[in-house]
Amino acid sequence: MKKRLFILAIIIFISACSVEDELNLVDSESNNDEMGDEVTEDDHITDNADPEQDKKETNEESEASNQFSLNFDIDLSQYANESSEWGEFVTGVKTELDTDEQVVALTFDACGGPYGSDIDEQLIEFLIDNDIPATLFINKTWIEANADLFMELASNPLFQIENHGTEHVPLSIDGKEAWGIKGTSSHEEIVAEVVENHQFITNLTGKEPTLFRSGTAFYDEVAVEIVNDLGVEVVNFNILGDAGGTYSSEQVKNALLGAQNGSIALLHMNQPNSGTAQGVIEAVPLLQEQGFEFVLLEDYDLK
Ligand SMILES: [Zn+2]
Repeated sequence: MKKRLFILAIIIFISACSVEDELNLVDSESNNDEMGDEVTEDDHITDNADPEQDKKETNEESEASNQFSLNFDIDLSQYANESSEWGEFVTGVKTELDTDEQVVALTFDACGGPYGSDIDEQLIEFLIDNDIPATLFINKTWIEANADLFMELASNPLFQIENHGTEHVPLSIDGKEAWGIKGTSSHEEIVAEVVENHQFITNLTGKEPTLFRSGTAFYDEVAVEIVNDLGVEVVNFNILGDAGGTYSSEQVKNALLGAQNGSIALLHMNQPNSGTAQGVIEAVPLLQEQGFEFVLLEDYDLK
């Protein structure tokens, strides 16, 4: 019961922080007045053409204090305090599209903060110029550092925006570490790592993330169970596309050319000095020649 109250307190605190942060971001962005509104998914879809409709939505908004589809009622005391799995492919993590069609999903992480708030402009321009859809997992710190570009990407239908965490840490019930980064240390911290950026993205874009990938892409199986129960799918990959931006362009190209039907490739859009952009630029036309089409994660069920 205590735990339940605690999770509620976390969520209220996070909501307050998100709104405050959102306002700070709005100040730095003047050419997009949609950002100034408390944008809801409905606003986004209906285009606000009808004033009656607007009034109705405002009423609905004030009635519904929880505009998020996350399941905030989960009782954290029901989850185990010990885990038996740790890694990128633990129970409950999705790694492929559930299809036999000749499609591949490119996913790009933007890590943020000490893990890199840079922008790979060459990569983003290539995707846009060649109409290559991609799913972007974006960390809260990266969004704060690149607010204008984030809104541009979010408003481009080529891109699906998903959640790459608040602090960019692995998800653990007890502080396990990956790549030198200490993970969350409790059930409550797991919830906060997901929910804060989930709400931040939703408030900015009017569209709720449905997927989550942690910083480092490491989890224990209890953490994955909690995120799934919140109502968000945990998505990793079956193609290690650039190994955190450490691969040469040749290695990136070769990794991508290993694509199978329904593959999900993990790459980065925050490492402009890596081989990622060049490798993608070389691999994409070769995959297209083989008959592959590039798709968003939301286009298919995941497995
Ligand atoms: Zn990352």
